[in-house]
Formats: sequence, structure tokens, C-alpha cells
Amino acid sequence: MAALLEGGKLHKYGPVQGDPELREILSGVIAEEIGVRYAPPEIAITVGVKSGLDILVRVLLEPGENVGIMTPFWVTYPESVKIAHGIPCFLEADEDLRPNLEKLRREIEAKNIKALLYSSPCNPSGVVYTRDELEEIAKVAKEKDIWVISDEIYAKFVFDGRKHESILSIGGLRDNAILVDGPSKRFGVPGWRLGYVAGPREVIKGLTKLQGHVNSGTSRPAQYAMRVAYTSQKAREATDNMRQRYERNRDIFVRGLNEIDDVSCTRPEGAFYAFPNIKNFLGYKYEFDGRKYTINSSVDFRNFLLRKAQVAGVEGAPFGMDSHIRFSLATEEENIVKALSNISHAIKELRSR
Ligand code: PLP
Repeated sequence: MAALLEGGKLHKYGPVQGDPELREILSGVIAEEIGVRYAPPEIAITVGVKSGLDILVRVLLEPGENVGIMTPFWVTYPESVKIAHGIPCFLEADEDLRPNLEKLRREIEAKNIKALLYSSPCNPSGVVYTRDELEEIAKVAKEKDIWVISDEIYAKFVFDGRKHESILSIGGLRDNAILVDGPSKRFGVPGWRLGYVAGPREVIKGLTKLQGHVNSGTSRPAQYAMRVAYTSQKAREATDNMRQRYERNRDIFVRGLNEIDDVSCTRPEGAFYAFPNIKNFLGYKYEFDGRKYTINSSVDFRNFLLRKAQVAGVEGAPFGMDSHIRFSLATEEENIVKALSNISHAIKELRSR
């Protein structure tokens, strides 16, 4: 509201690349948090991370080029690549959902990958890439001269006292690495529809040019609000409170899940999701409302939980792993406890049939 009232100028079209004052602030935030300086011309404000990513891959790719996507992945990555007439190539993870760097190197060579795309902390697995893993990815990217798109939207939610590491801070990668991030998760404001992309000046120039035709830039009052959020001590504290809450929820939920027979869940190191393996329930049958059902996929397992536990998860298939299901931990602790109890009872009943 302040933005609308005080900033009368904000009714007019603004710079397509985004408010210069906001880009200056973000330049400082990136320097403080990642340790590298991206000047305001190397940053563009986008309509959420989603639209930033969409426009970015359209700028980077020629039709038919391959993009390596680390599995499991955020559901939109393959769709963005397809919209840009690229081809998604899925790079399988290890059993513990960590990136398999040997396979990654092999696939990048075999498939002539043009760009690599991942989120760390990862949605859906909660895996946080280590400095060593990022250095290995950086080495391959540099050797093969490919783009690395690093989605760090969950950077503020890293647990167990660990520090978020970004590939952008690895020396020599400045010409290859591109950061996508935004306020949606860190301030809990996905409705603002704002994000940003930071990378080589030519890439940002291309993105801005295309963005001018796609949406003429982002909402100016929302950018004003983003300026306030990124400079507010209160907002910083709110982010930290969220991280503590998600970490507590992770502790309770993941411990509880692993106590349920036949469920196994790797311990998320960040973000706010749990991504347990539910493959042991394939083939199980149950009854609901006078009808018989068989669980043959993650969608079937999701439906089973909705019907029998009143818990909503998201099936693993669109994240690249049909053997898994994703739960969000961005809720109150009492909901986490209730959900666990309901899931546990529903599975006990399922296994006893
Ligand atoms: N990237 C990841 C990994 C996400 O999980 C999400 C949303 O869930 C986004 C990007 C989208 O962010 P935004 O709401 O800023 O478009």
C-alpha cells in the first residue's frame, strides 16, 4: 500500500530489467551471502523464479539442445526446457539422492549437454550440495564449457548449523554460472511473483530483451515491497524463525516416518520437504467407500494417503522418482504430529490386510 501511495511513479512502466535501487540491494545481498559481486547490470528482476528460469533457458538454448537436469528435480525444470524447444536429459542420483558425479561427467560427454540445472537445497529431496560436490560440478562445467543454472531459492533454509554453498563462489566459473533466486521462500511471499537472475552481462541483456516482449518487466509496487523486505531486520528475523520451525518439523517428521515399517526417508539437510521412499507399498490393496484399489504408482499412494490418512502429499513421478512421495513441512508442528500419526495408522492397516 505504501508503495502505491508514496510511490505514485510506480503506476508507470518501469525499466524492464527491474528497479535499479532493488538491483543494487540484491548486488549487496549476493556479495554478502555468496561472496561474489554481481553489479546491477548483471542482475534482472523477473516474475518469480519460475518466469526467470523460463526466459533464461529460452535465451540460452538453441532448438534441440540438451539440458542436464539433476534427479530428483523441481517439476517445472523439464517443462521449461521443453518450452524452449530443448531436450531434458535426466541425470540419475545415487541411492541416497545425492548427485552421482561420475554419471554426471559421463552423461555430459555422451549427450553433449549444453546446460546443467539443479536446486540446492533441493526441492524435493532436501539434499544440500557440499562444497566438494559443487567443485566437481564446476570442474566438469568449466572443462566442457557448459552453463550451470543454480536455483538457490531455498538457500536460507539449511539445517544443522551448516552453511549454504553456492557454485557461483567457485573461482573461474563466472562465465558459466547463473544464479536464480528470489523472495518467494525466504520471506514466504510467493504471491508477490518476484525473482531474480544474476549472471554474465550478455545473458542478462538477452533475458531483459526477451522479458520486454513477454511481460514488460515485473510489477513495480511488488518490487518496492521487495526492496523493503531485503533491507529489513524484521524480515531477516522472520526468515530465521521459519528456518528453525522447518528444522524442528524435519526432525519430528523424518524420525517418525523412519519408524514406520517399510518407509525410508533420507534426512533433508535443507528446504522444507520430506521425500520418503514408498516403493515397498506397490502392489498393496485397500478398500475405501465400498471400492477396491491397488497401489501401483506414487499417484496411487498419494490417493491412498488422501483417502485413508487425510494427508496430502505430492506424488514423486513429476519430480522424476515414481518410487517416492513429497510432503511439505511448511506448517505448524501440531499438523506435522497429526499427519504422522494418521500416516502411521493408515499404513499399519494397509500392511495388515
Ligand atoms: N525453484 C524451486 C526449486 C521451487 O521449488 C519453486 C517453487 O516451489 C520455484 C523455483 C518457483 O519460485 P517462484 O514462486 O519464485 O516462481
